[in-house]
Amino acid sequence: MIKNYILIGPPGSGKGTQAKKLTEQFHLLHLSTGSIFRQLAQHDNNLKELITSGNLVPDTQVVDLISKYIRNNIITVKKTGILLDGFPRTLTQAKNMSKIFVMEGITINVVYIMTLNYDESINRLLGRRVCTMCGANYKQSNNIIKCTYCNNILSKRSDDQVNIIKNRFQIYEKQTKPLIEYYDNQSNIDVIYINGSKDENDVFNQITKHL
Ligand code: AMP
Repeated sequence: MIKNYILIGPPGSGKGTQAKKLTEQFHLLHLSTGSIFRQLAQHDNNLKELITSGNLVPDTQVVDLISKYIRNNIITVKKTGILLDGFPRTLTQAKNMSKIFVMEGITINVVYIMTLNYDESINRLLGRRVCTMCGANYKQSNNIIKCTYCNNILSKRSDDQVNIIKNRFQIYEKQTKPLIEYYDNQSNIDVIYINGSKDENDVFNQITKHL
């Protein structure tokens, strides 16, 4: 049976890293709203300002993007399943997404909640380097300069700075965490907690046990 998944977690909990590994290994469609907004921000100063300050893009804009994306990719979603990485992030987004999914005849089966505390989030993100082409994440301490997937030079994300990470973490606590209860109350959706402080392979094993 084709299944659809959501990855929820605070900044630095490894959503992007795990999503990349999972979608490659299990041939799921990967939707990262963060990657899409970073690309759009190259030609949109309002969006750029929101992202670099760590604030959320307004719900209407996010829901609009998702609605178009799902409609344009509905055949693939139904064929392979989709992994939502970084979406939904608010209750409004989740409720609107549910309407879109019902209209298109698709359902969310599993929601993974990745856990990580504030200090770990700061430490990880301050030492993170990313590939701006494919979104792969690396630890600065590994001294890797070029992306192992696409050979692009790695860089630091502009929103990986202490004050901005703090803001992103607080937004997660206030606006995104209520989604846990929302999904917990839906009997047809499995909510699975993943200890995001473990190393990449351990986290991957925790997730794949429930795929
Ligand atoms: P991420 O790569 O998931 O950390 O997202 C980077 C930034 O993109 C966030 O800090 C937000 O500014 C924006 N963003 C990504 N996904 C969403 C979303 N679902 N709702 C609102 N803003 C988002």
